[in-house]
Amino acid sequence: MFRQVKRKTAGRRNFEGGIYRSETNTKVYGHRLSFYDSPPTSEITLEEFETWAIERLKVLIEIESCVARQKPLKDIETVLKPMLLKYLPLTNNPDRVMEERRKDHYSHFILRLVFCRTEELRKKFIKNETILFKIRYGLLQPHEQQDFIKSYSDKLPWNYISQEEKLQLFDDLYSATGIIIKNHLIMESGITDFTITNDHLKQQIRAKENFIKLPFEKVPNLISNRSVLIRDGYAYIPTTLQLNLLAVEFQENLTRDLIRTFQTLPRLDEDDRLLPLINNLSHNFSNIQYDSADFGSDPSLVSDINAQSITQSSINKHYPLCASHLQRNLHVNSHLRYQGRQQLGLFLKGIGLSVDEALKFWAHEFTKNGSISMEKFNKDYKYNIRHQYGLEGARINYKPWDCATIFSKPRPGKGEAHGCPYRDMDAETLVENLQQMGITDQHDINGVIDNVSKRDYTVACTRVFELTHKTQLAGSKNEEGMHINHPNLYFDRSRQLERGEAKSTVEA
Ligand code: SF4
Repeated sequence: MFRQVKRKTAGRRNFEGGIYRSETNTKVYGHRLSFYDSPPTSEITLEEFETWAIERLKVLIEIESCVARQKPLKDIETVLKPMLLKYLPLTNNPDRVMEERRKDHYSHFILRLVFCRTEELRKKFIKNETILFKIRYGLLQPHEQQDFIKSYSDKLPWNYISQEEKLQLFDDLYSATGIIIKNHLIMESGITDFTITNDHLKQQIRAKENFIKLPFEKVPNLISNRSVLIRDGYAYIPTTLQLNLLAVEFQENLTRDLIRTFQTLPRLDEDDRLLPLINNLSHNFSNIQYDSADFGSDPSLVSDINAQSITQSSINKHYPLCASHLQRNLHVNSHLRYQGRQQLGLFLKGIGLSVDEALKFWAHEFTKNGSISMEKFNKDYKYNIRHQYGLEGARINYKPWDCATIFSKPRPGKGEAHGCPYRDMDAETLVENLQQMGITDQHDINGVIDNVSKRDYTVACTRVFELTHKTQLAGSKNEEGMHINHPNLYFDRSRQLERGEAKSTVEA
C-alpha cells in the first residue's frame, strides 16, 4: 500500500486503471464483514489515503464519544447507522460492493498506521474497532453471519447444529440458555417495559436461534458462568453469546497485528508523503475539523442571523457554553480582549453573521456604555473584525475555531473569557452555568462533572447538548455526527433539531 523506497521518477502515476486488481478476486472482499487479516496490496492516491482515513476516524470518534457517555450498544448502533451509510457503507449493491469493501479495508489499515504508535492509542483503536465490528455483525442477515463464520473456518472452527439436533435437544437448550436469549431480546427491543412470554420465547428459539457447538475447553468463561448447555464434551452456544466470542477473536487478532505494525513502522520514516498525514491524524484523536458543508449547511438557517437577532434568545439559546459565556462577558463589560474577540468573532462568522452586521454588533457592544467612542472603535477594533473576514492584511478567509484549536490557545487569564468553560471554569461556576442551561438533576450534573474531571471536555459538552435537547433528540431520526468537537457544530445541530421539531409539529 505504501512505498518502501524513495520515488525515483517524479510524477509517476501507478494508480490509473485496474487499481484494485489484486484484491478483487481474492477472498478479501468476499464478505461484507472482515477480520482484516490480509493487508492491502495495490496502490491508492494520497487523496484517497487521507479522505478514507478521516472518514473512518469520524466513525470511530463517534463511537468513542458514545462509550464515554455510557451509551449501550443498541443506542450506539442507532447513532452510527446514518454515519456508516455516509462514510463507510457496506451494502450488497453489486455496482458498489467492491468500491465500498475496498474503502473499508484500506481505511482500517491506514488507521492501524496511525494508532499503532502508543499503548493508549492502540487501546482506543481496538476498543472502537471492536464495537464497530459488533455493530456491523449485528446488522448482517443470519445467513450472512453464517457465511462469514464459514469463510473463517480455519480461524473459527464453529459448527452450526442442524435444525434436527436443535429440536432433539430443545428442552435442555431452552433451560440452559432461555434466560440469556430472553434478556437479549428485551435489550434489543429498546423498550423498558417490553415483556416476552415463555411460549413466544420458545417459538423464537425454535425458528430463529442458530446454535453452534464447540469443544467445551474452548469456552472456559461460558462454562464457569453456567451460561451454556454442555453435552458429550461440546458447549452449545446461542447467537447472543457468539458475538462475544467473535469480538474476542477480533480483538486478539487486532492487538497482535497492531504490535506488528508498530514494529515495522520505522520503515515508513523514509516516506516523506505519508508521515505528515499519519502524524497529523494521530496528533489529536478528536481533532477532525467540523466543516459546515459536511453537515449540509442550509442557507435558510443563516438568513435570520444579524446584529440584532444574535442578541436574542431565539438565536443565542443555540450557542454552546463557550460562545454564550463570551457573548455574556462582552455584553456585561462592553469589551472583550483579543483572544475572546477572535473566538467569538469567528464563531459568529461561522453561524452566518455578515461582515457588515458583525461591525454593527461589535460597535454597538463596545460603545454602548460610553467608555469607548465610535471613533476609537473604528481606529482600534474595526480592522480586527474586517481581518477575520479576510478583508484586511493577508486576506485569509479564517475559519471558526474548532474545540481542538480552542484548547491549544493560552488559557484565559484574569479579565479574559475565551477558552472552553468545561476546562477553564471552576466547578462551582460551571454548575451554576449548567443550572442556568436547565440542567438541574444532580445525577446529570454529576455526569458532566465526571467527564470534566477526566478532561473529556468535548464529551461533557456533548452530554450537555443531549441533556438540553432531550425531547428533540427523542423525536429526531437523524443522530448523525452527535459528538461535539466544534462550537459551530453545536449551534447548527441545535438549530436543525429545532427546525425538525417545528416541521414535524406543522406536519402533525
Ligand atoms: Fe465550546 Fe468545544 Fe468547549 Fe463545547 S467543548 S464549550 S463547543 S470549546
